[in-house]
Amino acid sequence: MSSIRPVHAPQSLFAVADGCLQVNGIPLPRLAQRVGATPFYAYDRNLLTTRVAEVRRHLPPAVALHYSMKANPMPAVVQHMAALVDGIDVASAGEMKVALDTGLDPARISFAGPGKRDAELAQALAAGVCVHVESERELHVLARLGAELGIAPRLVLRINPEFELKGSGMRMGGGAKQFGIDAEDAPRVLTLAASLGLDVLGFHIFGGSQSLKADAIVQAQAQTLELAVRLAAASPAPVRILNIGGGFGIPYFPGEQPLDLAPIGAALDAALPALAAALPQARLSVELGRYLVGEAGIYVARVIDRKVSRGQVFLVTDGGLHHHLAASGNFGQVIRKNYPVAIGNRMDQPAGAEVSVVGPLCTPLDLLAERMALPDAAPGDLVVVFQSGAYGRSASPEGFLSHPQAAEVLV
Ligand SMILES: *Cc1c(COP(=O)(O)O)cnc(C)c1O
Repeated sequence: MSSIRPVHAPQSLFAVADGCLQVNGIPLPRLAQRVGATPFYAYDRNLLTTRVAEVRRHLPPAVALHYSMKANPMPAVVQHMAALVDGIDVASAGEMKVALDTGLDPARISFAGPGKRDAELAQALAAGVCVHVESERELHVLARLGAELGIAPRLVLRINPEFELKGSGMRMGGGAKQFGIDAEDAPRVLTLAASLGLDVLGFHIFGGSQSLKADAIVQAQAQTLELAVRLAAASPAPVRILNIGGGFGIPYFPGEQPLDLAPIGAALDAALPALAAALPQARLSVELGRYLVGEAGIYVARVIDRKVSRGQVFLVTDGGLHHHLAASGNFGQVIRKNYPVAIGNRMDQPAGAEVSVVGPLCTPLDLLAERMALPDAAPGDLVVVFQSGAYGRSASPEGFLSHPQAAEVLV
């Protein structure tokens, strides 16, 4: 019996020359010298630009594209994205500061997320940022702060739909959730908002994340539009903003294939006329995080030691889960699988025996690759973890074991 082992989707976005991976034309060893220390994250600005263009090519022009910046909040990245997208979605006052610093029109910045503190809501009002209301309490606070500050709050209701995006990596909608207002409660909350003198601009309906199945995304979007039209019937004011979420995934693990955007764009295109008839003032937007930035980034660590333990080879590097929790398999994965990994200065060499790539932390969880066939590597070589442009540094416990932080460069 032959067993076919699933493999990673090919990593072809970063060019290779003279055996070295290139980041926007710079060979990796040279880039490591420029950064001055390993480990580091490198993001390729050209790949960010081409990815946004690719998404725009598939989506109807009437659909606004937002960047969900918690995927990668590096200020230089957010600045680059601000010039390419139609809006930035933030999830804290800290992110809001970075988004405002780009110079983007505050009306194009939206602030979602549960548990917004009064001070954060006041900052958002003062800035003119659109608040995505996640609870009745937030409505009351916004009404009070609006009166105190003399500002009419810009707000939309975040809705917890009764459905969820199928096959998505993280469940963010459907069932009982801390996010948004349950769809069935929305009519009552809309009435409450009106009684508080608040103008609800529209709805934000987010059904899930990291889906690689176009048909699941098409289905969730159809359900989202249908729900929005239903909610609009209960709204005293016309819907002007309709954020239908995103959920576009990228392939991380063996056997996963890139998402096909064509059917998603075609289905949205087909749905637009009916939506325009039902909600004539609605500006439709999608919010994408990892799909825009995830594949444009790599994490680079240097091999410190090569050990053999009872026949198994370990490449011990200066990087690990303290910088890249997701690649270690500890950021919401049920079963640990390897991210695509390479030896960035031996790209022209054939894979040898299976090795495990580990970090310097005193825990067996500190694993960047488990039993992966890689070219023979030695101390000084550069291990590259692909698909690392989203939920990398900012989603990792960098204080754990007090090693140096990872640098970040936008190249
Ligand atoms: C995190 C988040 C996103 C982005 O998710 P990705 O999987 O990175 O695209 C979009 N919308 C909301 C509400 C989020 O919380």
